[in-house]
Amino acid sequence: SIEARDVAYHMHSYTNLRAHQDSGPLVIERGEGAYVFDTSGKKYLEAMAGLWSTAVGFSEPRLVEAAAAQMRKLPYYHNFASRSHGPVIDLAEKLISLAPVPMSKVFFTNSGSEANDTVLKMLWYRSNAMGQPQRKKIISRLRGYHGVTIASASMTGLPNNHRSFDLPIANVLHTTCPHHYRDGRDGESEEAFATRLAADLEDLILSEGPDTIMAMIGEPVMGAGGVVVPPATYWDKVQAVLRKYDILLVADEVICGFGRTGKLFGSMTFDMKPDVMVLSKQITSTYFPMSAILINERVFEPIADESDRIGVLGHGFTAAGHPVGAAIALENLAILEERDLVGNAAEVGGYMQAELRRLADHPLVGEVRGVGLIAAVELVLDKAAKTAFDRPGQLGTQVATRLLDHGVISRAMIDALAFCPPMIVNRDDIDGMVSGLRRALDDTA
Ligand code: PLP
Repeated sequence: SIEARDVAYHMHSYTNLRAHQDSGPLVIERGEGAYVFDTSGKKYLEAMAGLWSTAVGFSEPRLVEAAAAQMRKLPYYHNFASRSHGPVIDLAEKLISLAPVPMSKVFFTNSGSEANDTVLKMLWYRSNAMGQPQRKKIISRLRGYHGVTIASASMTGLPNNHRSFDLPIANVLHTTCPHHYRDGRDGESEEAFATRLAADLEDLILSEGPDTIMAMIGEPVMGAGGVVVPPATYWDKVQAVLRKYDILLVADEVICGFGRTGKLFGSMTFDMKPDVMVLSKQITSTYFPMSAILINERVFEPIADESDRIGVLGHGFTAAGHPVGAAIALENLAILEERDLVGNAAEVGGYMQAELRRLADHPLVGEVRGVGLIAAVELVLDKAAKTAFDRPGQLGTQVATRLLDHGVISRAMIDALAFCPPMIVNRDDIDGMVSGLRRALDDTA
């Protein structure tokens, strides 16, 4: 069978590889709008948009056409040694025009991990260029997710990305996470919690030495760490600390970018003023691997000087800024604008948040949180004590498996179930998702 061949030959990411040998894969054969179909023809709402990825859904003919047309014209070119091509120039200009703060240049990469790895290298290069070789540390957060390459996995603040990999590397520090439900103290308001976390950040900076800290990286809303929406004033308070010590802010918009939170960027939802923005996933609806790093003048100028001193910026990827990816991205962004999918994420997202919150009285639900079209349902055994299952992920995986039977693909992140449907969804799709979830919770309780 196709499942047996998968087990025989295919090694999976983020999978218990032994358990997979018994359970086998879910093999998806095709997609239509917000839905996908497995090899038996069973239909699922893809309530995770794949991996927080497909803004326009799974069967957008305009993206296919854009790819085919570009394949026929110029199927590949690169940007080493001053080489360029039309689609990448158009896309760079477009991204700069969309940025919520003045940005200067776009550097293209192929994945979120590669982009974050590149950011760390670029900022090291910049510190050296500025005659500050001691300024090499980056602060990320516990539960943050920035990818899986050696540097990105180090910045990721989740145990499974470090354990047995001998990570994190030096120069990566982790500060506290704005997860009020889990980490807030008894009776502590969200406001007081945000104040305490900003103080934690300042303490870390002072104990390490402010002149050793180069940047802080964070997702506006944490995704893989359990869809952690920060308290309203959290980013204000954090940015005040960063400004005080002249520390750069890197917004990892790999999930939040292009409308997910109901505004074009998560930085807009939380009034962040990043020096660097990292974009991926919804940039092409992940019909093509692509990521982009936007940097402001303050970041670009010293790097440009250093490349002149050395003779070259010794960094870049063969397939980055790919013409087919750029053509798809441009068409994808055109669709986002023409169909006002960001507006849809705000409108249907508001509906999704309200409908999911109606499950808050369920005995297994500790908290429902989210913004726009990204949400999490935190699962608990005991609501008052907020106790999770014996083994992290156990309850989330059980509910996600039952939800799959009811035709909805979600994703268990520790003991939260995440929802992040394509930005084309309507209220009926959300109704199906929430009623499926209620049944799955009842099946499990
Ligand atoms: N940053 C964030 C916020 C992400 O959510 C992800 C992936 O989920 C990454 C970076 C890594 O991206 P990739 O899987 O494309 O390497």
